[in-house]
Amino acid sequence: MKRSLYFVTKDLRINDNLALKLASDSEQLLCVFVVDKKWFKPSKYQSKALGDNRWHFLQSCLSDFNRSLLAIGQQLHIVYGDSLSVLVDLCQQYQITDLIKTRLPGTNENRLMESLATHMPSVAIHQVEQFTLFEESILPFAIKELPGSYSKFKKLMSNIIVPEPLSEINSLPNMFNQWLAPTINRPEWLNNKPYKEAQQGHYFDGGEHEALEHLKSYFSSDAPLTYKEVRNELDGFQNSTKLSPWLGYGCISPRQVFHTLTQFELQREKNSSTQWIYAELLWREYFQWLHFKVGEKTYQFKGLATSYPLTSFYPERFTKWCLGLTPYPLVNACMNELRLTGYLSNRGRQIVASCLVNELSVDWRFGAAWFEEHLIDYDAAVNWGNWQYIAGVGVDPRGGRHFNIQKQTALYDPDGLYQSKWIEDKALLNEPLDSVDMADWPLLNINNG
Ligand SMILES: Cc1cc2nc3c(=O)[nH]c(=O)nc-3n(C[C@H](O)[C@H](O)[C@H](O)COP(=O)(O)OP(=O)(O)OC[C@H]3O[C@@H](n4cnc5c(N)ncnc54)[C@H](O)[C@@H]3O)c2cc1C
Repeated sequence: MKRSLYFVTKDLRINDNLALKLASDSEQLLCVFVVDKKWFKPSKYQSKALGDNRWHFLQSCLSDFNRSLLAIGQQLHIVYGDSLSVLVDLCQQYQITDLIKTRLPGTNENRLMESLATHMPSVAIHQVEQFTLFEESILPFAIKELPGSYSKFKKLMSNIIVPEPLSEINSLPNMFNQWLAPTINRPEWLNNKPYKEAQQGHYFDGGEHEALEHLKSYFSSDAPLTYKEVRNELDGFQNSTKLSPWLGYGCISPRQVFHTLTQFELQREKNSSTQWIYAELLWREYFQWLHFKVGEKTYQFKGLATSYPLTSFYPERFTKWCLGLTPYPLVNACMNELRLTGYLSNRGRQIVASCLVNELSVDWRFGAAWFEEHLIDYDAAVNWGNWQYIAGVGVDPRGGRHFNIQKQTALYDPDGLYQSKWIEDKALLNEPLDSVDMADWPLLNINNG
């Protein structure tokens, strides 16, 4: 008798979900999402893995997914605790034979699966490939041979066909009769503060329904036809697809996005902008496979480079960067938008990352970890991969990116509209980079709370 546990992670959807389809071929099924205690504790880089905005977004994704499961005879069980202990307990209590999940490149994820295999050797673990456009078996190279530059990767992938998305799942096997896991609804360690929305507005509601609605609305408009011209703007909801938060939690799959884009090209028009959207999806793809290839190097100071960057950790500078209190108004505006909403345009991300590394000389990993806490679209491979790229320790053969802040301000915010939207207290703008006392010691302590 096949008694399956579907370990829900970044696949919160019932459309194009091969893992759920595989799980549907069981006699009994348990669908579980684990909210891990570790996500709420600061890491060695001072930031938590999951900040308020993403936690808020995730909860709406989970509710939406649960509603979809209820409609097809199942339920999502949300369990709070340590992922490994929760999974081991559930496998034992329900005598699980098969654990099914989406395959992801993150090193913590993979360690978790390895530990689970050691603790529960009798459970067959199935890791289903569906977080990427392509499966490993159809890549025209072995992962260890992944090209060292995106452009080579893009060229090699040009003739590879993206598989069609799967149809919606409309029935699932029975649940177990009894729910045996601890039923703490909201443990103490969870952030139980009420969620506060940014006054300037918020953009995203979580869940597959919202994702599909947004996908349809973006590709029913003319926006894809001008994507290339406007994608670098700092503001404006239609200036890029805004699909990343839903892609991050798998409320939609990259294949669904690709096929909607292809339909648009067939029915409306194919131009350099529509092709650029595909090129960005391929960047996402490239970073996923790169993470599979380089593993832990994704998170190391030296990254993929041969020598260490000439940066360090300056607590005051880092704190000022996080809180939008640097001497650079454009950077402050971007950092405020990120902290208050959990989203920042791609150009905004590039500018603030370059500022941290180049103007402030701070170790890039602190910035990447701050992004991890705050971005609602956080994706391990894409975030740390992009940070490495800008810090000059990644795949970029040109070695790092330094954005001229003055030039970027003149190009993307010449009238200061974006800055006035996100900077409330202009008096704070003239802060020097480093404050010193008589003995030349920094006055601020590390406190990014
Ligand atoms: C320092 C830094 C950190 C980043 N961290 C993340 C992250 O954690 N999660 C994340 O999804 N994106 C990240 N990005 C990439 C990019 O900024 C966002 O994907 C994009 O801004 C999301 O908005 P959008 O969906 O409107 O993108 P669009 O411009 O509409 O692009 C369409 C899709 O292509 C992919 N994409 C776009 N730009 C990139 C890129 N530079 N690298 C890889 N994939 C890309 C995304 O999946 C995106 O949804 C980061 C970029 C930088 C410079």
